[in-house]
Amino acid sequence: MIIPASERVPLEKCPALVLNADFRPLNYYPLSLWCWQDAVKSVFLDRVSIVSNYERKIRSPSFEMKLPSVIALKNFIKPSEHPSFTRFNVFLRDKFTCQYCGEKKDLTFDHLLPKSKGGVTDWENVVTACSTCNVKKGGRLYSASGMYLHQKPFRPTVDDLHQNGRNFPPNFLHESWMDYLYWDVELLP
Ligand SMILES: [Zn+2]
Repeated sequence: MIIPASERVPLEKCPALVLNADFRPLNYYPLSLWCWQDAVKSVFLDRVSIVSNYERKIRSPSFEMKLPSVIALKNFIKPSEHPSFTRFNVFLRDKFTCQYCGEKKDLTFDHLLPKSKGGVTDWENVVTACSTCNVKKGGRLYSASGMYLHQKPFRPTVDDLHQNGRNFPPNFLHESWMDYLYWDVELLP
């Protein structure tokens, strides 16, 4: 059994960035992060190689290791072209901006075809809206609301979110991850 060393950084603050076998992040949106337990387990199962470490160590009586901060899969997984439908990803597609009035605060979601009228929660029917616009539109159909969208909602590709993601980096990024994130963007002039 592995006993955590008594150091300051909590273990749950030490996730590992997971890279594909080509050393690009396995997933951007959301960023592929594994908790330290999964990372360590996959090292022992020989499924990943360690690319970089935290200073934080774990110890048992017979063994000690630094927690991995970046790991790479040994077998390549074909990345998916489309990101998952999540709240964050809808906001990111819409650049954290109300699609009706351009407001950037107090954001929620609006269903173009209201749920009460059978509208589904998917990429094509959900847009980012501020609370004021959301209330103003109420349960009306988009076509009957007299309100106008900046952009028709669409199902984005990972590349679409990449374009916007540069302006909205995740809250926590460990320094050892930087060489592997947004590298394709930084190569642009
Ligand atoms: Zn608005």
